[in-house]
Amino acid sequence: MDWTYNSVAPCLLREMGATGLKPCGTLHRTCMKKTKTKDSHLLEEWDKAHLWHPFTQMKDFQAEKPIIIEEAEGVILRDIYGSEYIDGVSSMWCNIHGHRNRHIDQAVKAQLDKVAHSTMLGLSNVPAIRLAKRLVEITPKGLNKVFYSDNGSTAVEVALKMSFQYWLQMGLPEKQRFIALEHGYHGDTLGAVGVGGIKSFHELHKPLLFNTALAPSPHCYRCPLHKDKETCKLACLEKLEEILKKNCRETAALIMEPLVQGAGGMIVHPPGFLKGVRELCSKYDVLLIADEVMTGFGRTGRMFACEHEDVVPDIMCLSKGINGGYMPLAATLTTDKIYSAFLGDRGKTFYHGHTYTGHPLGCAAALASLDLFENEGVLEKLQPKIRLFNESLNRFHELKHVGDIRHIGLIAGIELVRDKKAKEEFHPGNRVGQEVVLEARSRGVFLRPLGDVIVIMPPLSITADELTRLLEIIYESIRGLESAREQYF
Ligand SMILES: *Cc1c(COP(=O)(O)O)cnc(C)c1O
Repeated sequence: MDWTYNSVAPCLLREMGATGLKPCGTLHRTCMKKTKTKDSHLLEEWDKAHLWHPFTQMKDFQAEKPIIIEEAEGVILRDIYGSEYIDGVSSMWCNIHGHRNRHIDQAVKAQLDKVAHSTMLGLSNVPAIRLAKRLVEITPKGLNKVFYSDNGSTAVEVALKMSFQYWLQMGLPEKQRFIALEHGYHGDTLGAVGVGGIKSFHELHKPLLFNTALAPSPHCYRCPLHKDKETCKLACLEKLEEILKKNCRETAALIMEPLVQGAGGMIVHPPGFLKGVRELCSKYDVLLIADEVMTGFGRTGRMFACEHEDVVPDIMCLSKGINGGYMPLAATLTTDKIYSAFLGDRGKTFYHGHTYTGHPLGCAAALASLDLFENEGVLEKLQPKIRLFNESLNRFHELKHVGDIRHIGLIAGIELVRDKKAKEEFHPGNRVGQEVVLEARSRGVFLRPLGDVIVIMPPLSITADELTRLLEIIYESIRGLESAREQYF
């Protein structure tokens, strides 16, 4: 690629770039070297003129200086001005082996030389077949069938429609409803929103949604049953059993994020909850859908969250980390029993599919990612990093505004509170989480909070040194709140 020196655009120094909005207006050698295109300075304008960003209040976005990523390597993201940021959230929870991993790059390039895409409707393709076989081998025993789609939400749509139609074809058409957990998140298409449990995301579109029964989330820091974690004996499971008992006749499936509810605030479930849910679903003849879109592929320290409690769901949804975060790809896995219920005349067909289902490039990247897990001992090498992560996170308890630290594997959510003892939240208008991530950004770390929960989820490939630096910067950024403006307090 040509390096075109940018001689007109005012550059933004890293120190002032992120939070201060003043362009320095002079030419810096590093910026000249790294700015590739003549129109870098225009990109910000065009972004604001033409882009509508997801999950973003565009009025706020318009007022901020956007960071525009041009390239990346390992855990480092680099913007058009050459400023670097540690990717503290794995590019929205999907990157696994770092950016521009050579092995995956190579696999995608090799696949490009064969075919980029051909349809799965009536045809098959080589990487999709190979990947299906590998996925069956590594997921919990019994999940033998792979239905592809292209993102986490569609993986969930497939699971919902599949479970409804399964019961219909088993002669139980009254099983039409779903049970989900409060604070749950399963994607943004209407079906997925219909089983969502996050008020701020899901309440507004309620008139468009089906009627889901929500069970309490085992959110121990803010227990909905006002119990104490040490003595509760998982009372939330009793509550769930009541709901199942009452609704099982018309319930097709229960859907949950196993072990940790991501978008709901990184709510890590107490041991035994997942296993308990599995037992209850079997007892009441309700399918269990494990949405491992976030937890899958090593994020929790094991390949899948279900492994922590030896749970085999009836349906499992995979996406984000499936190909190391390279391309849109998802899979919904299920059992022979469910698959068999769709065999027969045309009327039993599962009429669902997306144009880019089983995309060869995405599947090739996924195969390369699984090779890395196997050949490079990714999960083994992860264990000492998780220990370091745990130890480093401990120190955050010292901080005045850290209410709760929830973590498992290389996932953490740090909940910031105004008053620790009372667990009192900050006023949402103060955007304290956002304040912290902007501070971290100015120190070279990219994060995206969930309200006042600071999410930390680096690629599994992060080195011990990078991890230490990442956590130090976050620590300092949170500590900065203590001397922040009066208005918060
Ligand atoms: C991100 C996520 C989804 C949705 O995936 P998309 O690819 O963004 O549609 C579904 N379930 C869980 C648990 C997720 O974290």
